[in-house]
Amino acid sequence: MNRLVWFRKDLRVADNPALWQARQDLANSGAEARLYAVFFDTEVQWRQHGMGERQMNLLRCAVSELAQQLRALNIALIVIPCDTFEHSLGRLTALCDALNVSNIYANHEYEINEQRRDQTLADACQQQDDCQPRAFHRFHDQCLIPPGKVLTGDEQMYKVYSPFKRAWQKVFPGYCQPPKATPAACDGRNYQAPEQLCGDHRLPECQPDALWSSNEDDIHQQLQSFLQQSVQRYHQLRDIPSQPATSQLSCALALGLISARQCLYSAWQQNACELAGGEPGLDSWINELIWREFYRHLIVAYPQLCRHKAFKPDTENVPWRYSESDFNAWCEGKTGYPIVDAAMRQLKQTGWMHNRLRMISAMFLTKHLLIDWRWGEAWFASQLVDFDLASNNGGWQWSASTGADGAPYFRIFNPTTQSQKFDPDGQFIVRFVQELAALPAKQRHQPDSLKRRQTGYPQEIVAHKFGRERALAAFKGEPFAQ
Ligand code: FAD
Repeated sequence: MNRLVWFRKDLRVADNPALWQARQDLANSGAEARLYAVFFDTEVQWRQHGMGERQMNLLRCAVSELAQQLRALNIALIVIPCDTFEHSLGRLTALCDALNVSNIYANHEYEINEQRRDQTLADACQQQDDCQPRAFHRFHDQCLIPPGKVLTGDEQMYKVYSPFKRAWQKVFPGYCQPPKATPAACDGRNYQAPEQLCGDHRLPECQPDALWSSNEDDIHQQLQSFLQQSVQRYHQLRDIPSQPATSQLSCALALGLISARQCLYSAWQQNACELAGGEPGLDSWINELIWREFYRHLIVAYPQLCRHKAFKPDTENVPWRYSESDFNAWCEGKTGYPIVDAAMRQLKQTGWMHNRLRMISAMFLTKHLLIDWRWGEAWFASQLVDFDLASNNGGWQWSASTGADGAPYFRIFNPTTQSQKFDPDGQFIVRFVQELAALPAKQRHQPDSLKRRQTGYPQEIVAHKFGRERALAAFKGEPFAQ
């Protein structure tokens, strides 16, 4: 009987628990057994999740790269286009029947629909009659500690990051496992998928992205460069958007081109230090990896987050504004706040935005413009190459004060002072808001009306004081001027 690895957003051959185990089991099974791989190209489903063209293209490029990597291991990747998850389960069953597959291997995905899909398959495998038994093996891969394993004394998920992090650090030694290598190549006979399947299921078309690689080896190089050149000063420079101080690995992590384990262990090898209390740049970077864990653990504990419900239910009563003209100005980078506009233009042009700017622009939309965070969340999802539901939802709800965060709703960043603090010379601003390039550095944060008229840069869409007070009133349930 044969084995099948079902790839999802874990598009790599090294340190892939499902692939690794399938290969181990193959080695222990009969000489004639084969190992296949499958990927379902579920475009309709991806679009429903909000994924945009750029990430979808990268995902497909990554699938093509994966097919080559698997070919070197003598494993055929069969790519099946289908609309929905239900459809993919039907196609999977047909594939398993055609290939005589007895064991399916996959890594967990934690979003609600994905979990339901996998449970349906697991139930179907259990209920199968004995004449053709089929097993579905699932592995935790996306997080360093599986969701549900970092809990309060009352066995509840933490609602705030800092205590979660402390507990995470205590629990981690129990889950500390070095990354697995790329498995050994299969016997050459395993490579060919049956002709009739290959003919139908060509690799998806994609265009290489000029900025973002989808090649596993490139990503490891990127990690090494970051660890050698930038991590030491990460804690000092990580908030400065004009500096290339962060890893920019979020896209690779979101598509599973690299694992969090590989990131953590490479960092340790490089710096030979402890989980905490070691080198400050590295500690600070690991802290971000733990934020990533926090949001994934949250969507498992509170699956309604996947349906875009507010984490704090009372904030569902905030009377959000649904002004399309204000929203469009924000999306286009034409709010008249240079730091916000530079951020939004960076997003549109590159598919990525610096973390500090994500916070500033998200808070501007939800506080100064009082627009429902779900609109911003959807826009980010459609533009980001690193879109991932858990981190995006977490970041948006944090910024909108509707989420898992101890800070009160009256934390409202002043975009101009944020700009002065984190982009003091306006270097980042003029990279994307070129209208302001001729202005002296100090004037780039808040040009006067005359300069705006002269340069064609828009007037402020809302005054900071007015926007701030309107948001405070709206959150308190008091009347406010539109
Ligand atoms: P680094 O600073 O090098 O950090 C290393 C890794 O840690 C990142 O690649 C990422 O996987 C993780 N990480 C870093 N910061 C965070 C964070 N605050 N929350 C969760 N994980 C983090 N991140 C996404 O991966 N996908 C998203 O869709 C996403 N949407 C966001 C929306 C908003 C409104 C906000 C405020 C943040 C969002 N983030 C998202 C988190 C963060 O901005 C990005 O992960 C980070 O900017 C990626 O850059 P980097 O790879 O250089 O990160």
